[in-house]
Amino acid sequence: MTCDKCNSDRIVSISAKCNDMFTAEVKHLKFNAEGYANSNLNISTNGDYVDFEMCVECGKIQGDFPISDETLKEGYFPEGEFDLVIIRQGYTVDLIAKCSSLTQVKMEYEKMDHDLIMSTGAIIMAIDTEDSTTYKAPLWEKQ
Ligand SMILES: [Zn+2]
Repeated sequence: MTCDKCNSDRIVSISAKCNDMFTAEVKHLKFNAEGYANSNLNISTNGDYVDFEMCVECGKIQGDFPISDETLKEGYFPEGEFDLVIIRQGYTVDLIAKCSSLTQVKMEYEKMDHDLIMSTGAIIMAIDTEDSTTYKAPLWEKQ
């Protein structure tokens, strides 16, 4: 085969078994894809393995790019309109609940030990999964 970018035949096939130990930090969408290898990134054909072909001439990972934000989210934001999350150190995100309204977000928030969480410097917020608008606890004003 030849590279889909530069046409070189210097292609290396890479395969690494990771099972469910895979993590990808999707910083611009503020979430971590964790669990089995993420097939949305063109680097896995089977959730147990990171496997892809890379051109060692130009560095291109073979496959279709760019990858849309919608595709990146696929399987990670399957339902609900708001994700209630804890953000630590500015970008590490823990998903607490998927909610269908801000009212539900507030109800889920009341169940959390939010004083303890916020005392660590973490931020609790809701993210609208449609347009990435964020609402910060405890006032839930649009950011
Ligand atoms: Zn190439």
